[in-house]
Amino acid sequence: MQTPFIDIHTHMPKLDDHLIQIVNLELEAPCPEQGYYSYGIHPWALDNAGFQIETTMKRLEERLQSPNVVALGEAGLDKMHKASFERQMILFERQIALSEALQKPMILHDVRCHNEIIALRKKHKAKQAWILHGFNGTEQDVKQLIGQGISLSVGEALLHPERKIYAAFPAIDLDFLFLETDMAEVGIQKVYESAARILETDIKTLQSRILENFKQIFLDNSQNS
Ligand SMILES: [Zn+2]
Repeated sequence: MQTPFIDIHTHMPKLDDHLIQIVNLELEAPCPEQGYYSYGIHPWALDNAGFQIETTMKRLEERLQSPNVVALGEAGLDKMHKASFERQMILFERQIALSEALQKPMILHDVRCHNEIIALRKKHKAKQAWILHGFNGTEQDVKQLIGQGISLSVGEALLHPERKIYAAFPAIDLDFLFLETDMAEVGIQKVYESAARILETDIKTLQSRILENFKQIFLDNSQNS
């Protein structure tokens, strides 16, 4: 069997036998019976009219019960967004606690909050895997985050040599690497091609490394719980 491409975070489900996706769903959307999914409360949701933390958390907890939901996310912190940072912290900490209680890894949204995220991982002594998605940081950020056991997922930024991550990408330890498309129209194959080119490796090697990472975090985990 051909090694599949893994798209660790996308909002656009695609039917393709050689592709494994973790599709991010809205809390309102029921979970399909096939495939892998994630549900979370994005920090931007705090801005929605009538947002209520208790009812939303309760719905999230229900959604996470499904065996096809392999991760809690996106959840996280965003310093560029207007939602109060204090409320973002409360919401994020509630989700960290839920991820630990239900043993579901987290997919993180992080805009200029590496330090806070690392501090919270320590504070909660989090054991679940955390994958910081849409990563576009420097080599120093890479070392800091991976040093705390946080995996990094990179997307279509790899197609743009002027982005920060392009130069920092080879610093990512392959055991902590994922690739994604998120909202981008570009196919995951293009992201793998670019990643392989930057790392001077071949796509097949990258596919098997990332498949191993996926199995370790998402498949072993659901079997244990
Ligand atoms: Zn996303």
